[in-house]
Amino acid sequence: MQHNASCRSCGGSRLNEVISLGKTPLANALLNESQLSQPEPRWMLDLVRCLDCSLVQITETVPPESMFSDYAYFSSFSDTMVSHARTIAERLVDQRGLEASSQVIEIASNDGYLLQWYAKRNVPVLGIEPARNIAKVAIEQRAIPTISDFFGIKLALALAEQGLVADVIHANNVLAHVPDLNGVVEGLKALLKPGGRVVVEAPYLGDLIDHVEFDTIYHEHLCYFSLTALVALFARHGLDIVDVERLAIHGGSLRIFAAHASTESISSAVGSLLKNESTWVHCEEHHQRFASRVEDLRQSLIERLQDLKAAGNRIAVYGASAKGSTLMNYFGIDAKLIDYVVDRSTVKQGRYTPGTHLKIYDPQRLLDDQPDYCLLLTWNFAEEIMLQQASYRANGGKFIIPVPEVRVA
Ligand SMILES: [Zn+2]
Repeated sequence: MQHNASCRSCGGSRLNEVISLGKTPLANALLNESQLSQPEPRWMLDLVRCLDCSLVQITETVPPESMFSDYAYFSSFSDTMVSHARTIAERLVDQRGLEASSQVIEIASNDGYLLQWYAKRNVPVLGIEPARNIAKVAIEQRAIPTISDFFGIKLALALAEQGLVADVIHANNVLAHVPDLNGVVEGLKALLKPGGRVVVEAPYLGDLIDHVEFDTIYHEHLCYFSLTALVALFARHGLDIVDVERLAIHGGSLRIFAAHASTESISSAVGSLLKNESTWVHCEEHHQRFASRVEDLRQSLIERLQDLKAAGNRIAVYGASAKGSTLMNYFGIDAKLIDYVVDRSTVKQGRYTPGTHLKIYDPQRLLDDQPDYCLLLTWNFAEEIMLQQASYRANGGKFIIPVPEVRVA
């Protein structure tokens, strides 16, 4: 089925449907008790593939202002994220010889979880973070200079005019979120010093497909990148991807290093991943197989939960995350199967999950209440969470991990 939208990267109009996840509420739109009786806005969640540049993307663009201004995700709530950030920051300070005369900029800098490590090494930093409440935390609690605004070519040119150009620009888990993809990459180019590096991390389409991570599809994630699609996007703005690494974080991500075009040699890792992708990025059958694996997963998870419930078990959910919202809404997992939700983020506790309206509690409730099973929807942090919940497990509690296939641990 073809769609009437155009590709966010190349502008092409030949878009084939990969999977439709129906009409769902925004995945991060947690509700207060007073909002439960009000109508909840829902938007189509259709995933398509551009037949020209291969970029996989959703068709709907929800206005970013309605998603980001009170965004409840603080990176520092995850130990994994903070230590991941520390490792890359310290590596780049050493490798690139960054010092007091250098400049590091991060787009979507969140609460300063990454830039704090550069600041500790006395490298000047600047964060750009559209969510005002989160930027405030970076400024007040970590002393990270932060501009609270949406990043694009306009802001980039204004900064460059003030001489604020960077040796290293980080853009972690943001490229997938931006409606004006070309404007952002043009902005990265405008802010980059000669010889500098743009370091981008984004969830990898190859892992999404291989591991059936369909729940990483939600309205805030407009695009799902392969290296093939990224190379075309960056080349359009005079940037070469000179190196690539595959990371385990977020269920599998790419970390790309980009430089001004034709200034540096390109690593063999780039060539070999492009070669691997040439076997599937343009393959219709490969993408259709993914859609049918999602349906198989739905069936097996629902059957498992229904059987457990019928046998008198009580089931909680760990993780009021965006991916949890996609999974629960698309699979129809609600109060009929689930007793309540727990999440470590204090800003989420006391609120309700979008669409499914389950109340969110402190994870301590798992110990106080000891439900028989806990469906782990933030499976990307499974190891970290199961370590934190060692007592719940020691008392007989079991985790159900839904992706890539249902397993009990
Ligand atoms: Zn395209």
